[in-house]
Amino acid sequence: MIARGAVSARAVRRRRATMAMVARSGAMDLEATKARLVAERATHAHQRDVLSRRDRHMSGAANHTVVEIDRALARIDDGTYGQCEWCGQEISEARLEALPSAALCITCQGKQERRT
Ligand SMILES: [Zn+2]
Repeated sequence: MIARGAVSARAVRRRRATMAMVARSGAMDLEATKARLVAERATHAHQRDVLSRRDRHMSGAANHTVVEIDRALARIDDGTYGQCEWCGQEISEARLEALPSAALCITCQGKQERRT
């Protein structure tokens, strides 16, 4: 019984955290973020198409960015934008401001960079 109580308390806390995040992302102006991502995506998609004929490495990097931006746009639509894909913690607004397509919080990003 004690264990089950602990689990549901954790579930409630998680639900509260999600609600707080939704409230905060409302203040963050997701529409503006989305517009910025769409504009960046167009730039990178164009670069990818121009570069694909002469520089495969650069074109691959541009394509990678396009994919990241698509994923960020999908997260805006499904309401998980701003949440780290690895640990589920909120990504700081400063980080999202600097890199709107960020999928990982700064801690997880550091871990990923050390791994690769
Ligand atoms: Zn994280």
